[in-house]
Amino acid sequence: MNDSTQMNLESAQAMVNPQSVKTPVNVLVVGVGGQGVIMVSKVLAALCQQQGFQVKQSEVHGMAKRGGSVFSHVRFGEQVYSPTIPMGQADVLVALEWAEGLRWLPYLKPETGIFIADTQQIVPPFACRDRKHGAVSGYAKESVAEISELISNCFAADAGFMAAELGNAKAANTLLLGMLSTALDFPADDWCEVISQFVPPKTVDINMQAFSQGRDWVERYDPAVLKGGKGIAVKPGGLVPIPHEVQFVLPVITEAWCKSCDICVKFCPERCLSLNENRIAELTKPELCTLCRICERLCPDFAISLNYKN
Ligand code: SF4
Ligand code: SF4
Repeated sequence: MNDSTQMNLESAQAMVNPQSVKTPVNVLVVGVGGQGVIMVSKVLAALCQQQGFQVKQSEVHGMAKRGGSVFSHVRFGEQVYSPTIPMGQADVLVALEWAEGLRWLPYLKPETGIFIADTQQIVPPFACRDRKHGAVSGYAKESVAEISELISNCFAADAGFMAAELGNAKAANTLLLGMLSTALDFPADDWCEVISQFVPPKTVDINMQAFSQGRDWVERYDPAVLKGGKGIAVKPGGLVPIPHEVQFVLPVITEAWCKSCDICVKFCPERCLSLNENRIAELTKPELCTLCRICERLCPDFAISLNYKN
């Protein structure tokens, strides 16, 4: 276990002991629609309740279709009165999307707050300011390295990538729960038991793997690569670069996932998609595509993706 993890665990042990904590423990979970923010917060709330704490949870997701902002406050302790976390009072900020995490940083406790983030970047369609073909998109400019200079306990991993390597990118939220579990002193078995109740039965195994991977990732991290003793942990292979300007290539459609719902065809502002003779979505007028990513956001089956240009 590395020094920074140990530090987190020690401070967390003090945090979750109601005898030694006069104020509630605050965990803020943020991300965008479709990532499983609410699942993370529900798992945590249920676990805290199971451990005998009073819990208050609040969430905002009504306006968030896939791609919109979603956040949830979880507060637990001996006695909790308010469901919302005041600014600068979050003990842990869990971000399922990088830019969303940055937006909520003012809520983290300045000295002791723990930032756990997926470096996954989901660029909203409205960040595509220039609608010309091949135009670049704006995105949060701060890199992982820059953020680690500001936060004592910054754990940033490409959880989406790691979960995809396990076989299901949607398990990224469980992987982050594994990372979160190193900051809160609850038994790992109790985490697993609660997670199993909140994921589809067929995905329990992969979610258990994702949880372990997130937990192990923090615990076995080599301190030699920790950045300046700041507690930043990064994916093996180096810091994940957050490009200042993100450029995409044309939509790619995974035929096997397309269920012919026609949503992308109807909503594409440039009318460049259509269903082919097998009723599978196809990019028929690529020259008109503005890379706005609306089709990617709206496809209910994740069948369309626009990838970053290398
Ligand atoms: S929205 Fe997705 S599932 Fe529906 S037609 Fe388009 S690609 Fe297929
Ligand atoms: S195909 Fe997709 S990315 Fe291209 S213009 Fe239509 S909705 Fe936008």
